Order: sequence, then C-alpha cells, then structure tokens
Amino acid sequence: MERKTAIVTGASRGIGRAIACELAKEGMNIVINYASSEDAAKKTLEECRREAIESGNDEIKVILAKGDISKVVDCENICKTALEEFGRIDVLVNNAGITRDSLAMRMSDEDFDIVVKTNLYGPFYMMRQVTRPMMKQKFGRIINISSVTGLIGNAGQINYAAAKAGLIGMTKTFAREMATRGITVNAVAPGFVDTDMTSALPKDVEKSMETAIPVKRIGTPNDIAKAVSFLASDGAGYITGEVLRIDGGLAI
Ligand code: NAP
Repeated sequence: MERKTAIVTGASRGIGRAIACELAKEGMNIVINYASSEDAAKKTLEECRREAIESGNDEIKVILAKGDISKVVDCENICKTALEEFGRIDVLVNNAGITRDSLAMRMSDEDFDIVVKTNLYGPFYMMRQVTRPMMKQKFGRIINISSVTGLIGNAGQINYAAAKAGLIGMTKTFAREMATRGITVNAVAPGFVDTDMTSALPKDVEKSMETAIPVKRIGTPNDIAKAVSFLASDGAGYITGEVLRIDGGLAI
C-alpha cells in the first residue's frame, strides 16, 4: 500500500506542529505549511522526523511548503508542491489561523477581513484544491480546526467567531458533497489550548479559564493532535460532517 501524505497548514508552531508530529508517527509523509516562521517550521520538520523514527517509521519524508493560505495562488502552490513530491494528498488539516481581537463596535474593517480571509477563505481554497487528487484516489480525510468560539461565541472575537462558525458550515456542506467519494470532512473545536495564540492573555485570565473548565486544566496541543490523528485514520471512515469539541468540557 502506498504511504499516505498529509498537508498540515500552520504547522510551524502550536497545535499544527503537534498534529504534524502525530501524523508522522502514524507513518505519513508530511507537508508542513507555514506563513513566515521558517526556523520554527524547520524545528517541526526535525521533530516529525525524530518522532517518526522513534515509532519505527523512519522512511517517511517531511517537507516544508511556505505560503499564505489567505491567498489562492499560495494554496495552489502548496498543493502543487505536495503532488510533485509525493504524487498524492490523503489528508488535509486546515489548522492555520489567526486572531485580531476587539469588541465589535471598535473592530476595524482590516481586522475583520484578515481574520475571515485567513480562517475561512484559506480552508476553502485548500479544500477546493485537494478535491481532485482525493477524488482520483477515492480516499481523503479533511479535518478543519474550528473553535468553541465558533459554537458559542466569545466577546471580543466577532471576526474569529464568524470565521470559525463559517468553517463548521463549510465542513458539513463539503462532507455532504464528498460523502460518496471516500472523502470524509470533519471539524474539531478546541477550547483553550496553551500555544502562542493564547500566551498573550494575562495570568489571572488564564487562571479563571482553568477554573471554568470542568476538567480543571488548560488543553495541550497534543490533546488536539490525538483526536485529529484518529479522524485522519482509515478507521474513522464512517465519521463525516461531525464537529468534535475538545475543550475539557468548557462548552458543555
Ligand atoms: P499559533 O500558535 O498562533 O500558530 C499559528 C500557526 O498558523 C503558525 O504556524 C502560523 O505560521 C500559521 N499561520 C498563521 N497565518 C497563516 C497564513 N496566512 N498562512 C499560513 N499559515 C499561517 O496558533 P494555535 O494556537 O496553534 O492555533 C492553531 C489553530 O487552532 C488555529 O486555527 C486556531 O484558531 C485554532 N484554535 C486555537 C485555540 C487555542 O486556544 N490555541 C483554540 C481554539 C482553536 P507562522 O509561524 O509562519 O506565523
């Protein structure tokens, strides 16, 4: 059987890095996309290789694919790179995302646009791009990283909530369109996860979050990566159009 290939967008840091490493451990070839942090992306590449070797998958290949997913031409190039190198795309994890927070009444057009462009248009461009190769293979796994903010909203994040809720709508629609083609499309909705994205929050806010989370701890990138790895597996073929909350019970 041919080795599977996974593209993980925004894999230079945080949740994306953990997902890339987890899929490498499962024996997949990995395409690490990032926007600008080249050194961090190289670190992900080294970690993927190390973890793959440790789990007995020393023959996998890991490559970097720089590109801004809010730009359609960059998404085309990321997928072209993957196909040129590996000849197939089996798994797409739309993980790259940004925040530009402020209350709705003060939010600038620019901050609204860039968040929606990156967190909603980007996954759409990427999904559209992988459709043909996945249909040809009669196999595909698409996992979109949404957020509990897309489910329940969050003051100060009207742009982010709109994009993440839109991503859920897109996931369900694409799941219906692809269901007879062997392609599943699911979303995960993380709660509060310890990454650069959340590190700017003051310590007292972090403490109050911890108290509000039923399992009484903040999530780790690995908490998300384990679930994504399952949804990317052959065994998850009967799950499509699902939204899996991974939030320690925050949004129960
Ligand atoms: P992070 O630590 O800030 O990392 C963001 C990643 O996205 C980086 O690899 C970054 O690349 C990449 N990126 C940003 N803009 C990009 C663009 N235009 N094109 C390509 N790559 C881009 O974020 P994170 O916390 O790991 O979040 C990952 C995903 O989980 C996001 O979709 C986020 O919305 C979602 N999420 C996070 C949390 C949380 O609590 N952390 C909760 C719910 C959902 P560079 O390094 O090159 O900038």
